[in-house]
Amino acid sequence: MPRASERFYDVMKSGDLTEIALNGHIGHEFNVPLVEFAGARILRVNMHKVGLITSEGTRLFVKWLWEIERSCSDLKLQIEKVSPILVRQFNTVRGHWTPNIQVTTVYAPFFCEGCEYEDHSQLVTAQEYARSVHEHEDFMPKPIICPKCHKPMELDCDPEKYFVILKRADSNRKGSR
Ligand SMILES: [Zn+2]
Repeated sequence: MPRASERFYDVMKSGDLTEIALNGHIGHEFNVPLVEFAGARILRVNMHKVGLITSEGTRLFVKWLWEIERSCSDLKLQIEKVSPILVRQFNTVRGHWTPNIQVTTVYAPFFCEGCEYEDHSQLVTAQEYARSVHEHEDFMPKPIICPKCHKPMELDCDPEKYFVILKRADSNRKGSR
C-alpha cells in the first residue's frame, strides 16, 4: 500500500487538457485533490496502470467523479484505457455516473482455450462501439490470434454487457437497464 507521501498519480497539463494517469490500485485510500485540474476544460483520466480496484475504491472513484461534476460543471471527463477487471466493476455502478463522463477506450478480454493465455491488449474505442450500435449491429471486437500457440482466441465476456461501458453516460439514464 502506498504511503501518504507517495503519489499514485501523475498530472500532465497542456492547454485546456489535463491528463491524470493513475497507477497502482484503487482502494480505500483513493484521493486525487480537485485542485490538480483547476481551470481545465477536459480532464482525461488514464487507467492504464491501475491493476486493481476494490469495491470501496469503486465507491470512492464514483464519489470523486461526482465531486468533479459539482466543482467544475462544464468540465468534460474522459476515462481511458480501462482494463477488464475495472470495466467489470465500473459496469456495476455505471447508472450512478454523471452526464459529463465518457469512457473513451477499454481493453477487450480474450482467452485462449488451447493454452489458457489471457490477452488484454486490444483497445476498443467508444467511436467503434457507437458506430455498430448506430448501425444496429451487435458490437464485437476484432478477432485475434493467440501470441503463444497461434490459435484463434475467444472473447472472454458477454460483449453486450461488457462494452456497454462505452455508451455515453447521458444516454444511460434514458435506457431501461
Ligand atoms: Zn494459446
